[in-house]
Amino acid sequence: MPRRNRRQRPSPRKLPADGAGFYVAQVQEGPRWSFGQPYVVRQIGAARAVKNYVCPGCNHTIFPGVAHVVAWPKDAGGQADDRRHWHRGCWDRR
Ligand SMILES: [Zn+2]
Repeated sequence: MPRRNRRQRPSPRKLPADGAGFYVAQVQEGPRWSFGQPYVVRQIGAARAVKNYVCPGCNHTIFPGVAHVVAWPKDAGGQADDRRHWHRGCWDRR
């Protein structure tokens, strides 16, 4: 009997057309001071958080090992200067 219920291997996802260059990047409304400009948002897992960052939402440090988000204006093209690391909670309350 042929196995009809075999799981299909998911086809590889294409990179976002907006040039974000990351599979997991999403576009969300930016912080208040951006006047609703679209921001590219990427989740940083705890294992990948290896530096101290200053969160622009609360001006406090994000310590290594803390999962957080990095966001930058979509139109800026993801230059390092435009990227900001945020606590997840602060981004949610941006
Ligand atoms: Zn914060």
